[in-house]
Amino acid sequence: MRATLPLLKATDFPPLRRRAVDTLQVNLGYTCNQSCLHCHVNAGPNRTEQMDRANVDAVLDVLVAKDIGTLDLTGGAPELNPHFRDLVREARARGVRVIDRCNLTILLEPGQDGLAEFLAAQQVEIVASLPCYAQANVDHQRGEGVFEKSIRALQTLNALGYGCEDRLPLSLVYNPQGPTLPPPQAALEADYRRRLGEDFGVVFTRLLVLANMPIARFGSTLISKGQFHEYLATLRGAHRPDNLEQVMCRTLVSVDWQGFLYDCDFNQMLGMPLREGDAHGRLGHGRLHLSDWLELDLTDNPIVVADHCYGCTAGQGSSCGGALG
Ligand code: SF4
Ligand code: SF4
Repeated sequence: MRATLPLLKATDFPPLRRRAVDTLQVNLGYTCNQSCLHCHVNAGPNRTEQMDRANVDAVLDVLVAKDIGTLDLTGGAPELNPHFRDLVREARARGVRVIDRCNLTILLEPGQDGLAEFLAAQQVEIVASLPCYAQANVDHQRGEGVFEKSIRALQTLNALGYGCEDRLPLSLVYNPQGPTLPPPQAALEADYRRRLGEDFGVVFTRLLVLANMPIARFGSTLISKGQFHEYLATLRGAHRPDNLEQVMCRTLVSVDWQGFLYDCDFNQMLGMPLREGDAHGRLGHGRLHLSDWLELDLTDNPIVVADHCYGCTAGQGSSCGGALG
């Protein structure tokens, strides 16, 4: 795979500082039952990295100590971590809102019996990737047969109340197939509702539209095709300063499977750790672990930025919660 960080590091992206943290986004490991073309974490069935129980406990400690209201679980397929269900139960018992970034097909995997029912019983919010309502596009990006399995999984979730009841939100995630900006979120959501409703009887709560980041597997593909600089120019050309107020790193901290901290999931994948800043905004050199955070206040800490950050501020903006604004 081609490295993208050397092409992103020299940047004129505006400086950012963190506000109070309301979300802890935790990557439980890189094991996944799929190997999608656009995966920004290079996850797949052959990856074995998984968060251990000691770091799961450290996650729970930080949630309580820092009074963080939302735990956002990602991976790989986070459900494949052996501590997934314990972490969900223990976070919910502490009154924390839990989001599962679910690839849908995991709900049909052998060994995952009762997973959908467990998520519903714990009132876990589901954010599920479905990059198109057309089978050919989904199967091209995510693998043969993924669309049909995803629809079956959505029908199972609907039958449990997901997407129908307020207490069980079901969000779908769209990202473009190629190096273009995503279309307007509201119009695309209406198309998704119509097509999924008419063709499959599927309902959902909302559609989140994400821009592709020029990093990891997608960034490497762009380099191979000679499209990397053109795509970066597209993102930079569409930069909207208003979006800087709402980029997700202002209120979120990302954690890797070993418990180390990053300003966001994208920085995590680029190997750019969160660094403690001094009063002048200069950044320290050491990376920080969940256990270090217990002794620190990260409010107002400078955020590590590079040119990929234009992927968050281009056009309608992009974050784990969809378009900004
Ligand atoms: S399902 Fe998600 S984590 Fe797994 S390979 Fe696809 S994009 Fe990556
Ligand atoms: S990629 Fe986006 S979320 Fe991450 S540091 Fe840059 S602006 Fe913030």
